[in-house]
Amino acid sequence: MLLMPRPGEKCGIFGVFGEGFESARLTYLGLWSLQHRGQESSGIATSNGKKIKVHKKQGLVAHVYNENDIEKLKGHISIGHNRYSTSGGSTLKHNQPVIQKGGKFALSHNGNLPSVKKLERFLKSKKIDVTGLNDSEMMFEAINYYLQKDFSIEKAISKSYQLFTGVFCFLVLAKDKLIAVRDRYGIRPLSLGALNGGGFVVASETCALDTVNATFLREVNPGEMLIMDESGLKSIQIVKGTQKLDIFEFVYFARPDSKILGKNVYKVRENFGYELASESPVDADLVIPIPDSAIPAGVGYSAKSGIPLSLALVKNRYIHRTFIRPEQHLRKRDVQLKLNPIREILQGKSVILIDDSIVRGNTIGGIVKILKNAGASHVHVRVSSPEVKYPDFYGIDTPTQKELIAANLSLDQIKEQIGADSISFLSYEGMIKATGLPEKHFSTSCFSGVYPSDIGEKKKEIVNIPPSKPLQIPLKILSSN
Ligand code: AMP
Repeated sequence: MLLMPRPGEKCGIFGVFGEGFESARLTYLGLWSLQHRGQESSGIATSNGKKIKVHKKQGLVAHVYNENDIEKLKGHISIGHNRYSTSGGSTLKHNQPVIQKGGKFALSHNGNLPSVKKLERFLKSKKIDVTGLNDSEMMFEAINYYLQKDFSIEKAISKSYQLFTGVFCFLVLAKDKLIAVRDRYGIRPLSLGALNGGGFVVASETCALDTVNATFLREVNPGEMLIMDESGLKSIQIVKGTQKLDIFEFVYFARPDSKILGKNVYKVRENFGYELASESPVDADLVIPIPDSAIPAGVGYSAKSGIPLSLALVKNRYIHRTFIRPEQHLRKRDVQLKLNPIREILQGKSVILIDDSIVRGNTIGGIVKILKNAGASHVHVRVSSPEVKYPDFYGIDTPTQKELIAANLSLDQIKEQIGADSISFLSYEGMIKATGLPEKHFSTSCFSGVYPSDIGEKKKEIVNIPPSKPLQIPLKILSSN
């Protein structure tokens, strides 16, 4: 089965304003640290104060740039972009930063506008052709429209902002400044750092600040625009903001060494595992997390349960994320390529397999099979997040509701389908508790179906699903303590 193409960009962005710095080189390093946020294509746009140059290509950061490319991007201001597209959209056409020939600015966008109706209507009313443009390109066109009307770039951004319905963190590179903008709910992360020696860095995640030796200053606030130029840093609150970070950043998407809302991602994931072990204990010989994303939760589960942690699934580091492959049948084969079991550890053992999330349910079934084929006597699946029952429209791009296994099957049916001996998910309450933050600071849409930012015409694609009853775990496999 081929997936229907869906537009959308779920990406990593990085920007530098640093006089005396080779900003493109720093951006290149930053993009390396943000590779996990997008592997389809990468690009950097640089200004030396007079002229903007851009280099962008399909592929991983390692393949997109060579020394010569970076050399050519001379200047002290840069923005970069790693693009993530789950299906259909992997064409050069949509690569970022978005820029026009002879353009006065470039734009890198992370997020997704679930509805572009308002924006499209506006552009059409101004006789701007929107054929074939994606959300990021339409955002660019709106800003460009105001710029041509002689508004300053800051004003052009704040006027266009009102047309953007959805989720966005974006960076704008003008000839003499770097601008960072976050949507009113702060759904995707964006952090500001100070360069050692003067200047600023903005990045989707703090791990990229660390890479260029920048000091974390603060997060860009929801609804805020930061302007960095030779006079320093200026902040304009475009609209009133309410923090609603997508909790999926903690569940899966962000790197474990990043800090979001003051919390280290690894520690939060470890807490997910800890909570999961308290809620869904099971008597077994080993706790086996799926590398790499479920390792912190595995550590937490093992610590709470007292069951030893084992890294008996070995990941081939050179095969990148399974989910990214645009076609379903390729995804299934990828699991086998990516993970190899250690038979000597697994033979005759009852194991607890920890996964960070189940979305379509393709990956987990393959892994249960790998463990059983390698001799595991029982495989108990424990998932360190609740059931994903609703699609994400905000830039992580979990698929349509029809494709989400937990939206369509009961826990018992999932267990049967994936061939596990038992299965449990972390409860919604357990997940929130593990973050150490109040629920109101999060968007939990893929678990709860509550979408803080308007999803426009997507509303009709969703049906509400009641919470599932926990599976009855057979008494004999319940831990005695
Ligand atoms: P599946 O259930 O086969 O669709 O894939 C779920 C697995 O993919 C989980 O184990 C996660 O580690 C990973 N995953 C979850 N959400 C995403 C996402 N939005 N993009 C890429 N990978 C993801």
